[in-house]
Amino acid sequence: MNIHEYQSKAVLKAYGVAVPEGLPAFTVDEAVENAKKIGTPVVVVKAQIHAGGRGKAGGVKLAKNLDEVKNYASELLGKTLVTHQTGPEGKKVGRLLIEAGSNIKKEYYLSFVIDRQTARVVMMGSEEGGMEIEKVAAEMPEKIFKEYIDPVVGLAPFQATRMAYNINIPQPAIRKATKLMTCLYNAFVGKDCSLAEINPLVVTAEDDVIALDAKLNFDDSALFRHPDIEELRDESEEDPKERRAAEAGLNYVNLGGDVACMVNGAGLAMATVDIIKHYGGEPANFLDVGGDSSPEKIAEAFQIMLDGGQAKGIFVNIFGGINRCDAVAAGIVEAAKIISDDGKSLPVPVVVRLEGTNVEQGRKILQDSPIANVIMAPTMEGGAEEIVKRVKAAK
Ligand code: GDP
Ligand code: MN
Repeated sequence: MNIHEYQSKAVLKAYGVAVPEGLPAFTVDEAVENAKKIGTPVVVVKAQIHAGGRGKAGGVKLAKNLDEVKNYASELLGKTLVTHQTGPEGKKVGRLLIEAGSNIKKEYYLSFVIDRQTARVVMMGSEEGGMEIEKVAAEMPEKIFKEYIDPVVGLAPFQATRMAYNINIPQPAIRKATKLMTCLYNAFVGKDCSLAEINPLVVTAEDDVIALDAKLNFDDSALFRHPDIEELRDESEEDPKERRAAEAGLNYVNLGGDVACMVNGAGLAMATVDIIKHYGGEPANFLDVGGDSSPEKIAEAFQIMLDGGQAKGIFVNIFGGINRCDAVAAGIVEAAKIISDDGKSLPVPVVVRLEGTNVEQGRKILQDSPIANVIMAPTMEGGAEEIVKRVKAAK
């Protein structure tokens, strides 16, 4: 789960991380009022959306007086901000963060993430702050430093100090930087985060060290331990398809492409996404229907994939173990009944590869069904190739 920058900063502040003074605003009047309360010569008006890249997209404005605050707030509230992280459709700004301006001397990068290979929390730092870390990793990997943290010991003081020196924090700010690292680590562990990213971390002209931006992601499986975090959920920021799928007990992740797939089992679902890509297609989603596939559930999965016209083709890839192929086939027939008036067609071609329990019955259900655009595929490779070809032909 993601939360907004202003919420992340409030969480971090409670752990002792230095953040600028700031207040959220939902209306222009509130923005002006909060700017008055903050009262510094410069306040920053920041669009709050669940995506980065706001600076470059015009979502971060420096206001020198209350008139400017008013103008920027009116401009940003309600605006759809398109950044390199939002996708072309952008995200609508419903909230602002009004923050005291900082006297930035230099920007740095600092984050904690979970490293799968070592099964540890890793702290990453760089003196190339403000730019995307993926870009730093690609262009100057030697500028990224890592510290792997022993879960029993926690972030050791020598690791924090080594990081501060590695990323060239100026001498008078070293202790403030290591303190911030420790507090950020405590927040990461205390709130079961999967990511805590400060980009930029800044050293100010006064040699203070502050988190100018803050992004926290939380492990969904641990949210039950943090009702205070769960409360911060902003449903308007979440993908409506992902929300609907979660309600139906489906494991769905929108990947933005146009070749949809419906698979059973996370491993096979990942392999299916890969093989679609291998044949030159752009996967629309990851979708694991799980072990119990009632026809109703399959029909719901079809509706989610087809909703909004994103999918130009669907690849059904089922290896029935616990799942029964006949139930999946019945689900596809059910979906066609719900989606089209006559139950005889689906809006996009559907390539089906069925294998496993009750496969003969499943194939027969589809062959006997009146749906026109269902194509049976004998193999996974053949099915992937076929659906990519059909989606390309449709474009
Ligand atoms: P992002 O683009 O979505 O990651 O948003 P950030 O919060 O990182 O802001 C982008 C950039 O705006 C930062 O890298 C800073 O250069 C600038 N910025 C943000 N807050 C301030 C501030 O208080 N003062 C100044 N001078 N610049 C700021
Ligand atoms: Mn940032």
